[in-house]
Amino acid sequence: MSKISKERKITYYIGIGTGVVGFLLFISFFFSFVSSMRTFEPPSFLPPVIGIVLIIAGSFIASIGAHGAAGSGLVLDPEQAREDLKPFNEAKGGMINDVISNIDAIGNITKPQDQKEVIKVKCRECGALNDEDAKFCKSCGKEL
Ligand SMILES: [Zn+2]
Repeated sequence: MSKISKERKITYYIGIGTGVVGFLLFISFFFSFVSSMRTFEPPSFLPPVIGIVLIIAGSFIASIGAHGAAGSGLVLDPEQAREDLKPFNEAKGGMINDVISNIDAIGNITKPQDQKEVIKVKCRECGALNDEDAKFCKSCGKEL
């Protein structure tokens, strides 16, 4: 059933290996940089550049191997990685749902309320605010 594509598997590990070598080259630059500060010699910028190129190339090679492995349904590291990412993706989906429900909540808050605007009548004597339909001031008792 499970056809193991050796080429893809090897491609994946070559990619990882290339990336590791590139990373080590990149890191070693900082050590050579520190030592160059003591010897006052300009450090070589070639190793870190090669290192970055190797990291990029390595990740590219590894992804080619990974896609092949995923297609064959073989349980390899990238397949496991995708399985590990599954809860993350589901959580992301949950987060989106939360955002949508929040938008709904905001919509409810900003919805025009049925509350009527209350009109108040100001008393000419004392200035107290009375209801529109009030005949007498609730504060001083004067006729409005
Ligand atoms: Zn009044």
